[in-house]
Amino acid sequence: MTAKETPNLRPRTMLVRGGLERSPFMETSEALYLTSGYVYETAEEAEAAFKGDVDRYIYSRYGNPTVAMFEERLRLFEGAEFCRAMASGMAAVYAALACQLKAGDRVVASRALFGSCHYIITEILPRYGVETVLVDGTNLDEWEVALAPGAQCIFLETPSNPTLEIIDLKAVSDLAHAAGANVIVDNVFATPVLQRPLEFGADIVIYSTTKHIDGQGRCMGGAILGPQSFNDDHLNQFIRHTGPSMSPFNAWVMLKGMETLELRVQRHCENAKDVALHLRDVPGVARVIYPGFDDHPQASLAKRQMDDGGNLVAFELTGGKSAAFKALNAMNLIDISNNLGDSKSLITHPSTTTHQRMPEDERLQLGITDGLLRLSVGLEDAEDIKEDLSHALCD
Ligand SMILES: *Cc1c(COP(=O)(O)O)cnc(C)c1O
Repeated sequence: MTAKETPNLRPRTMLVRGGLERSPFMETSEALYLTSGYVYETAEEAEAAFKGDVDRYIYSRYGNPTVAMFEERLRLFEGAEFCRAMASGMAAVYAALACQLKAGDRVVASRALFGSCHYIITEILPRYGVETVLVDGTNLDEWEVALAPGAQCIFLETPSNPTLEIIDLKAVSDLAHAAGANVIVDNVFATPVLQRPLEFGADIVIYSTTKHIDGQGRCMGGAILGPQSFNDDHLNQFIRHTGPSMSPFNAWVMLKGMETLELRVQRHCENAKDVALHLRDVPGVARVIYPGFDDHPQASLAKRQMDDGGNLVAFELTGGKSAAFKALNAMNLIDISNNLGDSKSLITHPSTTTHQRMPEDERLQLGITDGLLRLSVGLEDAEDIKEDLSHALCD
């Protein structure tokens, strides 16, 4: 189902039906085309396919019908010109950057990043002669100064991991465009349901579909969305020849995840609010950070660019690392895991896991103290999540 055939269907309908291409068997649910290659009737047809004279599947590194259905579904929901599905969120981040960068280019990025995004920007890109600059993403003056010499692109995450800072997408996109840079936004924490960066001026949106889009802890995946020219000029050949494509099986799982995404995200948000409110009254909890609350440092910005606060809650214990470890080890329901966006509630201690590679001064600058915990609130009954937290933090 392409946008052309169904111009008036609403986004919620696109989550369920967008991209569906039935085979001649007329199956209800999307077919899983578990094939690496495709065959040709004649040698002439193969020649035409490779010349690009006919539009058809050639090899699943380039494209696959199940993967294409998932790409089209996410594309329609996000309202982008193109979507490419990738093997993981990190494959998406790396491809979006590497496909457009060359030695001598500059990249400006916000400092509060997912650990592997931080590694690509501070360790890998500089090895290839790309200059990278990190800024406090919430400080527009820092963006302006860093962008003054020009840049090829900027990269940011909002809300950020794990301290849930909000970056002003519109203001930062305007500054980047004035400096000739394109804007890449990692939209994983917000999900496509709660925040649409393209509407605020971003050029390219990235997902780890491993998180809320699968949402049930099964498959790795990623996606890149943006203008057609970015795919034609940079991304398409990069993917074709370096091979970070999503497997058809994973795309099939993601397609089914999309059908329930909005419902799940709604319940995730309800549960997160309930749990975050509860945590405020638990002894030993010094601070609760949740983007949907009025006491969040950027509450009004969060309201402007997000439809709800999301399912991640960060909180700090007065007792530091020992209190954090004691609480983690006492949990009966909530699992200790660095994953997020899962139907199961998951909790992690960022300073010893996702951010342990980061130098201590940088970590503390970002507010990632030894007492900080990041909770991905799941779809269980909120009362059970709250009881587990109370028991683990107080008993
Ligand atoms: C998980 C995550 C990634 C990486 O995605 P993978 O699918 O694990 O490779 C990138 N950015 C953010 C914000 C994430 O949470």
